Amino acid sequence: MILAVIAIVPLLLERIHNEEFDRNERIEAAYKQARDLARQGAAKQNEVIESARALLQVVANARTTFNPSNNDCNRFLETIVKPAPWIKTLSVANVQGRIICSSFPDAIGLDISDRPHFYMAVDSGDFVLSDYFMGTRMKTPLITLALAQRGINGGASAVVLGLLDLNWFEHVAKDFVPPKGSMLMIDGKGTVLARYPANQDHIGQNFKDHPLVRDMLSRPEGFVTGIGLDGVRRIFGYLQLPGTQTRIAVGLDEKEVLARASRAMWAALGELGAVAALVLLGIWFGGERMLMRPIRALASAASRIGRGDVKIHAAELPWAAEFIPLAVALDDMATKLNEREQELRDSNNQLRELAQVDALTGLANRRTFNERLADEWKLACKLRQPIAVLMIDVDFFKKFNDLYGHVQGDACLRKVSDILMEGTRAREESSVPTHEAELPPSFQRVSGRARRPDFAARYGGEEFAVLLPGADLDGAILVAERLRRGVENLLMAHAGAPWGFVSISIGAAFVLPSEQDSPQDLTESADAALYAAKRNGRNRVARAAPIMLSQVS
Ligand code: GH3
Ligand code: MG
Ligand code: MG
Repeated sequence: MILAVIAIVPLLLERIHNEEFDRNERIEAAYKQARDLARQGAAKQNEVIESARALLQVVANARTTFNPSNNDCNRFLETIVKPAPWIKTLSVANVQGRIICSSFPDAIGLDISDRPHFYMAVDSGDFVLSDYFMGTRMKTPLITLALAQRGINGGASAVVLGLLDLNWFEHVAKDFVPPKGSMLMIDGKGTVLARYPANQDHIGQNFKDHPLVRDMLSRPEGFVTGIGLDGVRRIFGYLQLPGTQTRIAVGLDEKEVLARASRAMWAALGELGAVAALVLLGIWFGGERMLMRPIRALASAASRIGRGDVKIHAAELPWAAEFIPLAVALDDMATKLNEREQELRDSNNQLRELAQVDALTGLANRRTFNERLADEWKLACKLRQPIAVLMIDVDFFKKFNDLYGHVQGDACLRKVSDILMEGTRAREESSVPTHEAELPPSFQRVSGRARRPDFAARYGGEEFAVLLPGADLDGAILVAERLRRGVENLLMAHAGAPWGFVSISIGAAFVLPSEQDSPQDLTESADAALYAAKRNGRNRVARAAPIMLSQVS
């Protein structure tokens, strides 16, 4: 998405730059158009002045052919002025500056000798234009045209005067000012003489401090952009009317000029924006479907594998081709993990077994024996059953080793342990009855009677221990005697023993356990009995000291 944005942004900038260029061109064109229109306006103005001059010429010529009385003259001027609505009045003044004849009778007798256009016309003997001025009575912008009438001697004999109404010019402006455009005519002092569209409020007012007007008065011709007198932002082209200080300005609505450019720019930006949005949406949608979803699915498959759910077959899901190797690798990982876990479980079991079992004989080791004794002790306490322990030691075993070597010694220990294992597997019933209802489910049934199984262990070196749960001393002695006989019956040669074969001595102890007693007392008691058996000649079974028995009783 970032890459797409990086690709789109330059396009966007280029588009904006182009539009900016277009806009400037459009403004440039608008400037030219405004100036051309101002020129057209000036030309129209000129036409009006020229036609007025022609009219003045007609009057001047007519005056030479007839010299009517004042009344005839007035009527004549009225008839001439009627079809020319832009001329308000036509008058004739004598060279002294007094009006002698006029289409506006009230003007007759007025002294205009001090008016510049008058004496300029007399002096030059030619056509003169006054500057524009505001008519005092009618508040209309006026211009006076003066044409000297030459006498026979060549000098001025009279002056024909025409008063031109510039309001009329607003009507003409309709023809060349575009819709929403405006036309302004201001005199050299910044007074508005004419305006189109007509706005009487502005006519005759001075705007010399208005920034636009100031600009227009500072140069004979030019362009300016700004807020017009009517509050609309316009592009103005203006020029000075030849022979006067007056400026004619045509303004085009800037908004109108730029509207098309803006529309084009917004359309272009909108287009580009839509394309960008579509591209980004496409990338997002594609990325979501083709990347994010598979990655999420693979992540969830991986976490399921992590939780031990190895039955996952990720490769069977409908992946895009790019993800298949990953899914296959994931399945492979799951299988391997499963195998590894199985191996670990197996080796854990092996380790547990190694920790519990004596390697040489396959019997339980001393630690396991002690744990088992503790368990059985608790159970016996609960069931109020006796528990017996036999401590067994091979007689003259040091000598056996010395005589036959350690390998033979080990073999001997294995044979002894076989006897112990066999002898404890199915003990004959003890005389102690059990309350079957109290027995836990793990209780085994031996010979039809419920009882915990016997348990033989290698206690250390050539010493063994046998645990007889539920056995009283007589029962224990019975088992011990059977084991002793079992070893004796092997008749394993032992030149070091007085009787010439391998034998064992056994110490038997039993107790009806209580929570206050410790299982260690029982083994120590059996150990003491074992020593007694040794002391009494070996190859025999000895009962534990009566101290235990008294405890039991
Ligand atoms: P006693 O009749 O008084 O028991 O005499 P003994 O020679 O058996 O005396 P003791 O118990 O002190 O001797 C133990 C001997 O057992 C010493 C050691 O060499 C031997 N032994 C202990 N563990 C092993 C074993 O794992 N293999 C072999 N071959 N011999 C062992
Ligand atoms: Mg010993
Ligand atoms: Mg011994």
